[in-house]
Amino acid sequence: MAEMGMLYLVATPIGNLEDMTMRAVRILKEADLIAAEDTRNSIKLLNHFDIHTPMTSYHEYNKISKAKILLEKLESGTNIALITDAGTPGISDPGEELVRMALRAGIRVSPIPGACAAVNALICSGKATRRFCFEAFLPAEKKERNQILEELQTESRTIVLYEAPHRLVRTLEELYRALGDRKITLVRELTKKYETVEETSIGEALAGYCEGAADGKGREPRGEYVLIIEGRDRRELQKEQQSAISEAMTVKAHMQKYLDEGLDRKDAMKAVAKDRGVSRREIYQQLLEDWQETE
Ligand code: SAM
Repeated sequence: MAEMGMLYLVATPIGNLEDMTMRAVRILKEADLIAAEDTRNSIKLLNHFDIHTPMTSYHEYNKISKAKILLEKLESGTNIALITDAGTPGISDPGEELVRMALRAGIRVSPIPGACAAVNALICSGKATRRFCFEAFLPAEKKERNQILEELQTESRTIVLYEAPHRLVRTLEELYRALGDRKITLVRELTKKYETVEETSIGEALAGYCEGAADGKGREPRGEYVLIIEGRDRRELQKEQQSAISEAMTVKAHMQKYLDEGLDRKDAMKAVAKDRGVSRREIYQQLLEDWQETE
């Protein structure tokens, strides 16, 4: 039986062609076939690097049917390199399904690292880089979009979002409504001539931009954007949650809830104190007062 081929996930530049790695060029030259998101777009990159490997299309709209064809080829020994229009395959770009299907078929998958707008925007944003969540583009469907926006209200990690210029103002408006005037860094046109990194707040950014700014009142969003939003302070969030609990329930009712769940008095008191962010002594005192009042 012929040895199975390899699936390479090759990152390509997000603007500046000098970001193409030597390894990416070699793998694309050596592969038997290049699967590209848009062959007309990728031919320019391939010509630039003198790569003459045959190309086929692999995009959002044929990602399952075409994956089956590519899998057959991989199984019969063809080495395939997947590329997208820009950046890292699988990151807001086709790739995820093909990789999953390849792994299930026992095909080896290997990344050829390179540019990715999300990571590069994050590292120059001035926001916390240790913990972050990547939300890609917010979903287009309203209900799902609102759900995600609601979830982000209590997100303590740095939030990374992609956005297209013509939807930037609408997204900033929705972010403002959901998150308030949170700190944000707008990272634009990375690795290109008009690369900018702007630290601001969601409200200020909105005030500065105005769609179709023909009246000269604001800038018109141009180019490709990554939005890096500061996460909520965890201690503040915890305090808010604690005071919400304290407002919603009396200490007595709170204790009863844990007793009903089967905790003994000592553990229930411990849990109540933790939920409300106070000492066990305070809980004990409050219970004593409640008890004296009812005597
Ligand atoms: N796979 C790509 C990657 O690795 O970053 C992302 C592809 S996604 C379809 C395109 C989005 O990525 C753009 O709308 C923008 O939000 C972001 N993006 C791509 N290139 C960028 C650049 N040079 N500067 C800023 N953002 C960029």
